[in-house]
Amino acid sequence: RVLSIQANCLPGNPCPGVVLVLHDMTELRRLENLRREFVANVSHELKTPLAAIRAYAETLHMGAVNDAENRDYFLRQITDQSDRLHDLIMDMLQLARVEAGQEVFDITDVNVADTAQWCVDSLRDKAAAKDIQLVVESAEDDEVYVRADEEGLRTIVGNLIDNAVKYSGKPGSVSVRWTSENDLIAISVEDHGIGIPPDAQERIFERFFRVDKARSREMGGTGLGLSIVKHLAGSFGGSVDLESTLGAGSTFTVRLKRCRVLTN
Ligand code: ADP
Repeated sequence: RVLSIQANCLPGNPCPGVVLVLHDMTELRRLENLRREFVANVSHELKTPLAAIRAYAETLHMGAVNDAENRDYFLRQITDQSDRLHDLIMDMLQLARVEAGQEVFDITDVNVADTAQWCVDSLRDKAAAKDIQLVVESAEDDEVYVRADEEGLRTIVGNLIDNAVKYSGKPGSVSVRWTSENDLIAISVEDHGIGIPPDAQERIFERFFRVDKARSREMGGTGLGLSIVKHLAGSFGGSVDLESTLGAGSTFTVRLKRCRVLTN
């Protein structure tokens, strides 16, 4: 533990006693280290695509522009790296807003089946390109609602499906399911992909933590998706858990408060 000790003479009475004040600095130091680490990570993550864009642009200036094949390649790289920078900045801004409690949520009763279907529809092309089938299946009926912000719940489920697709080999399948657990609804996204090693599982929701940095970047990852999922679920009074076996696949489960919608 890190302790700071402050010794004060009692006012107006210089010698007979000393008041010792012990401050536990452990938590402050930990937060300061986290902040430093975050700033270092952000700088590194932003500099990498910027440096690549600059290098490709310089190569074009130096003559690659005259060769059609090279020019197309370098221009594609510049577009890809700009997209990556854009995704990174958007994810960082969203995470900062959610963490600071500044994101404005419209908390309503959100239909789980509709949200799952919306997310699957928006990611179907991406999954099909990897020969991965997206399946929505549930033993529950379609009239299941949770208390959440609709856009936020789409981000949660969408990020989990997107990861499941990114970290699965082809051909494959990803399933979205939901079940009742007393007053909660557990929404899970299951894949049969590469899985997550046990020592990485407890760090997986940390900002910028990746099991394999190169693979994540190659897949267009920012390293922030799961932190956003965790913070959003927390903002709606829920939680997120992971079960994974290396080489066999992963299941991420988000639990949110169920709402009982009254029907006439
Ligand atoms: P990224 O943008 O890198 O995917 P995330 O925060 O979404 O960042 O995920 C953090 C890391 O967790 C990923 O880089 C990857 O190593 C691991 N991961 C996330 N989801 C899965 C999954 N479904 N299967 C295997 N590994 C995963």
